Amino acid sequence: MAFKKVLIANRGEIALRIQRACHELGLATVCVYSTADAESLHVKFADESVCIGPPSPRESYLNIHALLSAAEVTGADAVHPGYGFLSENAQFARACQEMGLTFIGPSPDAIERMGHKIVAKETVHSAGVPLFPSVKLVDSKGKIRSESDLKKKVEEIGYPVLIKAAMGGGGRGMKVVRSAEELLRALDVARSESKSAFGSEEVYIEKYCEQPRHIEFQILADQFGHMVHLGERDCSIQRRHQKLLEETPSPALTPLLREKMAAASLAAAKAVNYFSVGTIEFILDSDQKFYFLEMNTRIQVEHPVTEMVTGVDLVREQILVALGEKLTLKQPDIKFSGHSIECRITAEDPKTFAPSPGRVTHFHPPMGKGVRLESSFYSDYLVSPYYDSLLCKLIVHDETRPLAIARMREALKEFIIRGVKTTIPLHLEILDSPDFISGKYDTRYLSLPRAA
Ligand code: ADP
Ligand code: ADP
Ligand code: MG
Repeated sequence: MAFKKVLIANRGEIALRIQRACHELGLATVCVYSTADAESLHVKFADESVCIGPPSPRESYLNIHALLSAAEVTGADAVHPGYGFLSENAQFARACQEMGLTFIGPSPDAIERMGHKIVAKETVHSAGVPLFPSVKLVDSKGKIRSESDLKKKVEEIGYPVLIKAAMGGGGRGMKVVRSAEELLRALDVARSESKSAFGSEEVYIEKYCEQPRHIEFQILADQFGHMVHLGERDCSIQRRHQKLLEETPSPALTPLLREKMAAASLAAAKAVNYFSVGTIEFILDSDQKFYFLEMNTRIQVEHPVTEMVTGVDLVREQILVALGEKLTLKQPDIKFSGHSIECRITAEDPKTFAPSPGRVTHFHPPMGKGVRLESSFYSDYLVSPYYDSLLCKLIVHDETRPLAIARMREALKEFIIRGVKTTIPLHLEILDSPDFISGKYDTRYLSLPRAA
């Protein structure tokens, strides 16, 4: 279980974040990169680095064979998968273990069960976690439902419904259906889209919530059955079901609701004997009822807001758990202080969200008290079109929500990025909007006309 050299199977800001955490613990790092990323900072600052292939993710960051070979030639004895890419791939976690490498994450079994959305729902349901009503395309005996049976079942949960891919992720593969006439056609489209995006055509149907807030809880557990939660994050500001701005605490939760959702999160994680860091995602509806969405069995993009209010270094804890250490934190030790907001700054057109790759000609980040930047780019950096458009994450912390909003506004104004379009103007607009300032917003926020 002990390891000394960690291969970081990722790129961008998270590769640097993990590298820093490793070095602080006295661990050596091996970075991997595609030919498109040869000039990246994670490569420059690594103890060792290995080129794993051409730009296409399939041939590089998703190439299990190349990653394991890189571990072998460098003598790495652990692998940190980061987020995205292979982070929730049970086959990869198993392959690491079989090679004698410690996978810095949960057990392959937990990844597998939580990675399949239908299995995950069934698993947490038995632990008493509330679920949206849903319909599977097969009946309880595993037989494919007839068209009439399917329509009847969907009628029972009531339109609108959402078709979701069982193996889906990254906000993709979802389809809203508002009437019985659209159902069969939408299912056909969803199945083929799911097949091409996720390699599986398995889909299911879930009640669609019209005014949802996305609230998630951070879990941390060791391999000896000790588990704590580190509160929630509100990730309701989204575009195309993808998060853009996150904050903690959520302006939507009362202390009682928080307590109930935290208890449900712990129960969900315990249902798979979870260890490592993990996130339980819920939808909170306008009646203050919450429903399990999914569990992400990895470090989350927005983990820094939790770190800012709790003072806990989540990546360090994740590594210590993988080293077989016992959690030293107990639930009462975890104190929440102030308010934190994260803005995901992506290289995109702030109006159309079209990707905007290109060379960053000028880069000057904001600084100051309570301002944190998780970034991997610099002046003259070439933003390549092959990967996620995330450039960096700007995080602020202050005593109260209004102060944190003000701090973020100032930091964004001082942030200079030239050469590519970014979401900075959109974030400034959000921070100035009455709906955001009042805290009364939901996931429709960016798709509705906004008051000036
Ligand atoms: P988080 O809450 O950590 O942002 P996301 O679901 O947005 O979680 O996923 C994190 C990252 O991984 C994002 O960059 C997202 O685009 C990517 N990602 C997650 N799952 C998939 C998937 N199945 N296919 C492609 N990209 C994915
Ligand atoms: P992914 O694995 O792609 O992250 P999730 O199940 O976490 O998929 O859903 C992503 C987003 O899609 C949620 O944050 C929410 O905005 C929206 N969503 C998912 N399920 C529902 C639902 N039943 N009703 C309304 N919105 C939903
Ligand atoms: Mg999700």
